[in-house]
Formats: sequence, structure tokens, C-alpha cells
Amino acid sequence: MSCGEPHETDCSEILDHLYEYLDQEMPDQACEKFQEHFDECSPCLEKYGLEQEVKKLVGRCCGHDDVPADLRSKVMSRIESIRAGEAPAQESVDESDSSASPRKKLA
Ligand SMILES: [Zn+2]
Repeated sequence: MSCGEPHETDCSEILDHLYEYLDQEMPDQACEKFQEHFDECSPCLEKYGLEQEVKKLVGRCCGHDDVPADLRSKVMSRIESIRAGEAPAQESVDESDSSASPRKKLA
């Protein structure tokens, strides 16, 4: 996925390390690179926003890293459809989720 504009940091590099950035495992210098890239590349910014939603959703759902398989597949299919340009990225993942499925809580 690319907006077609040349960037100092390649989109694939950004997306490859998106989780490290989200988990704040990046050195400061790399964070700056990411922020710069998000400023000028809306496809990557959308992807970043979506991953943030996923993280929030997962955190609220069970409070640890074990994601229930159905939630994970749901989220992944949503990411795939957004990646394919079939769904608006602005639509919030968690709002549409609340009524669609019973929330499974791990005891
Ligand atoms: Zn990009």
C-alpha cells in the first residue's frame, strides 16, 4: 500500500515495524522517522490508526496479549478489507463490534 509519493522512509519499512512503533520499542530517532512518514503518507497513517484501535480493543477485551481467536480473525479480516480498499478506514472497529458478537472474556 502506498500513496504514490516518494518518502524518505519506505512505506513497507514503516508497515514492517508498525507494531514495534505501537509498542514503543523503537529508538527515538526511528519514532521521528515514523511520525514524519505519517505526516506525509495518509495510507500508512490510516493503517497506524487501525492498529491502535486493535490494540485498544484487545487491551479492553482481556487485558493481556492472548487474543481470542475469533476476535483476532475478525480484526484481521477487517484489516485485509481496508488494505484492499473495500472499507472506509475511519469506521471504528470497536463500535461496530459491540452488538455483532457476544464479548468473550477470558477468566
Ligand atoms: Zn507510507
